[in-house]
Amino acid sequence: MTTTVRFAPSPTGRLHIGNVRTAVLNWLFALKENGRFLLRLDDTDQLRSREEYAQAIIEDLAWLGIQPHETFRQSARLSRYEEVAERLKREGLLYPCYETERELALKRKAALMAGRPPVYDRAALKLTPEARKALEEAGRVPHWRFRLPEGTIRWQDAVRGEVEIDLATLSDPVLIRADGSFLYTLPSVIDDIDYGITHIIRGDDHVTNTAVQIALFQALGATPPRFAHHALLVDKDGGPLSKRLGSLGIADLRKQGLEPETIVSYCGTVASAEPVRPFLDMKELAEIFALEKLSRAPARFDEEELFALNARLLHAMPCEMALPRLKALGLEMDCHAWEVIRPNLRTLAEAADWLAIIRGEIEPPALTEEEKNLIESALNNLPPEPWDETTWKTWTSTLKQLTGLKGRRLFMPLRRALTGREHGPEMSRLLPLIGPEKAAARLRAALTDSG
Ligand code: GLU
Repeated sequence: MTTTVRFAPSPTGRLHIGNVRTAVLNWLFALKENGRFLLRLDDTDQLRSREEYAQAIIEDLAWLGIQPHETFRQSARLSRYEEVAERLKREGLLYPCYETERELALKRKAALMAGRPPVYDRAALKLTPEARKALEEAGRVPHWRFRLPEGTIRWQDAVRGEVEIDLATLSDPVLIRADGSFLYTLPSVIDDIDYGITHIIRGDDHVTNTAVQIALFQALGATPPRFAHHALLVDKDGGPLSKRLGSLGIADLRKQGLEPETIVSYCGTVASAEPVRPFLDMKELAEIFALEKLSRAPARFDEEELFALNARLLHAMPCEMALPRLKALGLEMDCHAWEVIRPNLRTLAEAADWLAIIRGEIEPPALTEEEKNLIESALNNLPPEPWDETTWKTWTSTLKQLTGLKGRRLFMPLRRALTGREHGPEMSRLLPLIGPEKAAARLRAALTDSG
């Protein structure tokens, strides 16, 4: 059977770093296993689901390089869910309940006070047909619960190892609301069966649901898929990453200058036995990926770590990958300039500053007397052309002899006068890009400006 996984977001908001991680883990697994990755939009909640969110999810995934083999919406499959629900009703596995929210809350309270777990008491199962009829005539519309079997559900979780849940600790879950709409559970299981899902990889907030879902797979005569529940990312206070954290949205991280490979690399390695590191080729990342390497403990999300990873990715990015992306940002340069500039970048957009330093104007720095003498000497001893990567060394050796300055006192004023900055790419590589004409003009400007 072809390995088939699905990412199943509800289109009720945009993707953020937390939920996109689930998508990435599924996608990497499919890539590694040569399997299929499906995108399922869980849009049965008509009030909260929006088509614009569905589109945004598709676009965010596409930008990350994640193209599903197939995309489908639960809202298009309602008749299939009805059909299966009817079957479960006929078999007595889906039964009508008439309690109001208030009545249920009172029952829970009473159970807790009596020292019992707040599990639904199945009172509705004991209703006679007459009692049911009377309730319906009085205007009560039923919701429908799945009758859980007795016993314990066990599974071998690819991340968590052996998990077991005693079904007696759970209430029979409501599968259909009084208004006839489906809760997530039944459609999810039906889809997983119909689409031949072999592995369900999702956050560990779903562990309890899994027991119910396995019982449903069995009730429907299907073999449950394998499960892998990864720990969730948490914020710096240990709380859940909220959907509303705008700056962690994929679209915002993109705007802030992160490359798609950075996000995929981060999601594929954080909270796992692999160190967080950048991958330019997703096949290589998929190669080292394994569900068993995912950690069971929640991992703290650190935005700074993400930007540091972006920097590492750019430092390793080959020219043929970088130039088209730079061009899209309106930045034209050749491979040589890219190689000189890239060790200083945290985001591609920052290349604009370095291009301006190479080609544009700089602010002449203020100089001390000692520095002025040095710059004057530099101007009077411009190295012969053509300038290449040995020029800087020759030039500074001469200046060292002439002025007696060395180390920082020699290099820093030159760097500042030539680039307007205290830090930056290696001067030996930058100097030929600036060229003799601009270099001389900048030295002159530094002298004039300092009076
Ligand atoms: N729509 C569910 C969620 O976003 C899907 C969970 C699952 O993967 O089964 O939590």
